[in-house]
Amino acid sequence: MKFDVLTLFPGMFEAVLGDSIIARAEKAGILDMNFLQIRDFSTNKHRKTDDYPYSGGGGMLMTPQPIYDAYQSVAAGLSYKPHTIYMSPQGAVFNQQKAIELSKKEHIVILCGHYEGVDQRVLDMIVDEEISIGDFVLTGGEIPAMAVIDAVARMLPGVLSGEANYTNESHYSGLLEYPQYTRPEEFMGIGIPEVLLSGHHKNIEEWKRQKAIEVTYRKRPELLDRAELDKKDLQFLAALKERKE
Ligand code: SAM
Repeated sequence: MKFDVLTLFPGMFEAVLGDSIIARAEKAGILDMNFLQIRDFSTNKHRKTDDYPYSGGGGMLMTPQPIYDAYQSVAAGLSYKPHTIYMSPQGAVFNQQKAIELSKKEHIVILCGHYEGVDQRVLDMIVDEEISIGDFVLTGGEIPAMAVIDAVARMLPGVLSGEANYTNESHYSGLLEYPQYTRPEEFMGIGIPEVLLSGHHKNIEEWKRQKAIEVTYRKRPELLDRAELDKKDLQFLAALKERKE
């Protein structure tokens, strides 16, 4: 899978992604990431990439020409249009389902805005979808883009050591993850749930499922409306709701 990121701050990506599981995936050839400096494509004699908005107000807007040319340096000559995302607080809020969907794409271009944002015309020309990482405004699209790349890349076969590493995790199945414990078996007098020491595979699976429902119910109950729950799960949930706190 290939990511081409159009940014004014490529160094931010190298600093963060260059020393991670994602970097190992790149070395292993699972992932190819390129960070294009938008400024390098500016035809302005001072390599400017921003200007005042016609609508007035404070702040600057990224001009269309350097972004369009940076995009064309990636897309021109391809027999397909790479899926192009603009990181934007106006986009649909990113989630695990979107990460799974994007992990099936061969080639993604991500545009990171800065200042007051980007001239609308170039967005209309190149962007397929806008993605937000939440209902708040950051100074630039770089941190959001890193979050998306990280979440998508770890879904690619071979990046994590096994599929169970992410299929059990929060949000993959619509539930949050059950609590986990590691050694020592007793810490400051506190043990771990008996069932995890039982070696009884079926009981452990049942415990994990029930705990996932319970954690979701306590922390993010609204997620349960969309989670796939069978009859047994629903019975457990009903009992949980009846239980006195
Ligand atoms: N003026 C824009 C607006 O009100 O919609 C906000 C611009 S913001 C200060 C600058 C850039 O940061 C945006 O172009 C976008 O790329 C990025 N950005 C800010 N918040 C974001 C968020 N929640 N999710 C994704 N990208 C975000």
